[in-house]
Amino acid sequence: MALAINSYNRKLHELSKESLNAIKGVKTYWYNTHDVWKPTEWPTAATKDEEPKIPSPDIFADLTSLKGTTTDKPAALPTIAQCAVHLELLETFHVLRQKMFWSIPLDKAFDVKEEPRIVHQRDGSEKKLKDDRFAEKRNEKWTKFVTLAVYRFLVWWDKIDGVLENTKDRQGRMSMGSDHLPPLDVLMVWHSFLLNTGRFKKMNFNRNLYKINFPWEHIHNAIDNSKWEYTLLGTARTNFTTLTGLQQDLYSALETDPTAVPRTLVETVRLSPTPTTADQSLVNDLASMVARQTSFIDKMDRHLWIRSPAFAGTMARSLTRYSRFLTLFRLYPGTMLVPTLDIDIAWHTHQLTPSLYLSATQALCGRFINHDDSIAETGLSTGLADTKRVYRERFCEDYELCSCWDCEMLLSALEGRHEVSQGEPGIEELGSRIAEEIAYYRMVEFARRNGKPLPKKRE
Ligand SMILES: [Zn+2]
Repeated sequence: MALAINSYNRKLHELSKESLNAIKGVKTYWYNTHDVWKPTEWPTAATKDEEPKIPSPDIFADLTSLKGTTTDKPAALPTIAQCAVHLELLETFHVLRQKMFWSIPLDKAFDVKEEPRIVHQRDGSEKKLKDDRFAEKRNEKWTKFVTLAVYRFLVWWDKIDGVLENTKDRQGRMSMGSDHLPPLDVLMVWHSFLLNTGRFKKMNFNRNLYKINFPWEHIHNAIDNSKWEYTLLGTARTNFTTLTGLQQDLYSALETDPTAVPRTLVETVRLSPTPTTADQSLVNDLASMVARQTSFIDKMDRHLWIRSPAFAGTMARSLTRYSRFLTLFRLYPGTMLVPTLDIDIAWHTHQLTPSLYLSATQALCGRFINHDDSIAETGLSTGLADTKRVYRERFCEDYELCSCWDCEMLLSALEGRHEVSQGEPGIEELGSRIAEEIAYYRMVEFARRNGKPLPKKRE
């Protein structure tokens, strides 16, 4: 069986490559049924209502069930819905960085110029060469933006505890309401800070910010997942400005007024607590925490599970594997355990509610597990080899798996999930159903990215 599945995975990967080429090239997808190539086309959605909803809104149904401070279930793991919102948020960060890279007004705001090089040719004529550092210079906008975001975060961080204090209910539980959700840039710094669990604990343990649940539901509501845009409620915008004295949307502020950068910086620094050397090193640390998230965010974008037809199955498996991963901390206390990407997303999601993460790791692993994302690659590769070995030893399964849409759909099919099909089709039939389902989801994503009308499923 294992062998058969491996060769099947290979076949799916090949099909997948062909379908991607077909989508990019002739924009008509061909899929293989019993080795006969057939063209597949989908009708176009004529109205908003006809458009497919990917991810399905059903995934987010249980977001409301976990509210307030987490004290009831000290060993609770994250839910599929929370992982889904987390992936939405990461995709929103990703799109913000892309938008920033391509923005011409922001080139102006950050003084990024394309400087073609003039070379004198032998015949005496001059030739203009493209500025080969232009892309690099455009990337620097992001670094500067992150620094501004860190200063803004520090102002907000100083004040948000007072706001949370006012939300205390009779049991002393606090929560962040949609009216006090921070702007995206501040949220991004808070998010990266939380993922450095040890540092966050050390600096926030006595703060209210440590005690609240991450506001999953409000973040989900703020994100338009057809475009990955984040929009705050009017009250949240006003509240942020009243609380911090800062403009709520840094990106728009910079884009509409290119001269605003120095002003924004001066304004932010003036409002932040007196800058000391310690503050300056915190600014640098927070900025590098955000920077270190970039490669993980890019990986999540490349896998794009949030748009995959196998999403629910992928996340369910990821959470199972994450809970096993936590068990390994208890069983192999001396081993450096390194997560795979699917485990990492569950792990990060857990860390975003720090009090829950603290109680859960204490209960499940016997101690608080620090998450340090600054370990060098060499340490990681030894750790990964050890983790593979102990995972296999304990659970008799492979640790590292391909987690592309195709392989995930195949796993879902073998688990009998309804994502793929009802009944018990033969492996060939199953293969073509999977291929067609994936092709459809890819076509939707392709159309979305190219601003084309979305295809809808055949009746
Ligand atoms: Zn695969």
